[in-house]
Amino acid sequence: MRYSRAFIPTLREVPSEAELISHQLLLRAGYLRKLASGVYSWLPLGNRVLRKVANIVREENNRVGGQELLLPALHPQELWDETGRSAVDVIFRLKDRSDRDLVLGMTHEEVITDIVRSEVRSYRQMPLMLYQIQTKFRDEPRPRGGVVRGREFMMHDCYRFHTSEESLDESYSQMYECYGRILKRLGLDYQVVEAESGAIGGSVSHEYMVVVESGEDTILICDSCGYAANAERCEIGTTDAVDLPEPDILKVVETPDKRSVEEVTDFLQIPSEKLIKTLIYEDDEGVVVALVRGDKDLNEAKLSRLMRGRKLQLASAQTVQRVTGAPVGFAGPCGLSGVTIVAGDELRCGGNWVSGANKQDAHVVNINLDRDFHVDVWGDLRVAAGGDPCPRCGGVLKDEHGIEAGHIFKLGTKYSAVMGAKFLDQNGQEQPIIMGTYGFGVTRIIGAMAEQFADVDGLLWPMSVSPFDVTLLCLNVEEDGARADALYDELRDLGLAVLYDDRTERAGVKFKDADLIGIPLQIVLGRGAREGKAEFRNRWAGEKRDIALDEVAREVHSARQQLLDELNSAAAQVKAPA
Ligand code: ATP
Ligand code: MG
Repeated sequence: MRYSRAFIPTLREVPSEAELISHQLLLRAGYLRKLASGVYSWLPLGNRVLRKVANIVREENNRVGGQELLLPALHPQELWDETGRSAVDVIFRLKDRSDRDLVLGMTHEEVITDIVRSEVRSYRQMPLMLYQIQTKFRDEPRPRGGVVRGREFMMHDCYRFHTSEESLDESYSQMYECYGRILKRLGLDYQVVEAESGAIGGSVSHEYMVVVESGEDTILICDSCGYAANAERCEIGTTDAVDLPEPDILKVVETPDKRSVEEVTDFLQIPSEKLIKTLIYEDDEGVVVALVRGDKDLNEAKLSRLMRGRKLQLASAQTVQRVTGAPVGFAGPCGLSGVTIVAGDELRCGGNWVSGANKQDAHVVNINLDRDFHVDVWGDLRVAAGGDPCPRCGGVLKDEHGIEAGHIFKLGTKYSAVMGAKFLDQNGQEQPIIMGTYGFGVTRIIGAMAEQFADVDGLLWPMSVSPFDVTLLCLNVEEDGARADALYDELRDLGLAVLYDDRTERAGVKFKDADLIGIPLQIVLGRGAREGKAEFRNRWAGEKRDIALDEVAREVHSARQQLLDELNSAAAQVKAPA
């Protein structure tokens, strides 16, 4: 492609709406333009990367037996009513001209299960692996980072159908490797973590995290044993028992209008570790009071698990008033009745706590377990954080940030049971189909790549997805245009995709644009051209050297191949854990 004819609208200024470096660079380098919050157009350069990413995803899925299909984005809402997911808050809803309710697909478990329940009848038709690469819609409350969290985005979603748990386990391992291979072919550093299955449901699930400082997810990793989990999911090991302090005299203190941990601890001049945070939840079974140390966050998924899967919601102000006799902000565990009190294990290791007094504008100081309050259920209740003990080996967890690139789930029969997707087994018995579901962010990963690979000069693409293999910069078009044209043809004859900067711009502008756009190989035709030389730059290898003009095509071809080989051999190392 001749740059003079290419549609590459670069920007000199940093766009003010973009917070992440990846987002800034993708806009500045002319890959993306914003249409609306969380909605982006892929300009030609961006579209080239997008197609290459999609093709890698495709190749790796086909390798493990996937068959590609294409499902619609527009769904009748009734289908989503079957699983109760039409109520999910991020779903886009609309009505047609006959007032029928429709939704825009945010994922496709319902649609694919609907197909399978009518088309798959016998064990002989399974295992079956169907996947697509398709546009999804989610009305995200906080779109972020451009394509990292969009409201319209492209996902690879894959659904696998089985007659037995063993077959599901086998395909889960295959997908575990498949996603790892995709990420390695994209040159990314990633961490697989145990994950919460959230709204999708199911039992076992893992997330693929691209580790970058700006990532929204917190992940915890144990360097001693390799345990890694999303903070939402991460279990916490036990802390050694400590000697409890002598209980002091209990006092009620006035704390006018001091409700939050910060307000109370500032006012009373105590560290937040001295406070017991009291959170009140309810469901139709009753009220649950959850206690965690003031410096910790409650993990609602853990609370729900400790309460045998109850779907607890934060209690209304009326319930708080009824149960504690005080408005929100002054609750504590002392003297409560008719409720279940659940506490985090860390509260066993301390005493002389401070908590709300169950009285407006008051807290109690020096409360102690057994003497002043009791606990019905103990457990791991808090969000894990760096420094917590590893649940597997007792080592120390460290925290990192990541962008979730993919998520794999063993769904089991969650969807097939409610939607009636059954098959006849070898004995002619009807059984629910066993499912796995796998999702990968095809557009998000481009943001994540830009985030991991960006430097001060601009983007830098791995060879596998670079919009062009090489960029050819002709610095003096008048003098060297003919030589550059010849080189351009020669490179293209070898099957290379070339961005040829034939513009009559200053050399500085050409270098800046080339670095911004991020094509890994550069050929610079400058003064040396007249002595038969060009400069060859390999940005991944940090290499810059002069080569003879008649060597250029061969050098570029082999450097490209070497970069691809490196990515492919990293992919070949990926192994699912036994
Ligand atoms: P997140 O926790 O980041 O919202 P999710 O758990 O909702 O992700 P899934 O429903 O598992 O995501 O979707 C599968 C994959 O689709 C994710 O791993 C991610 O790569 C991608 N994805 C999800 N939501 C978005 C979004 N709003 N924009 C871009 N990609 C997304
Ligand atoms: Mg989400």
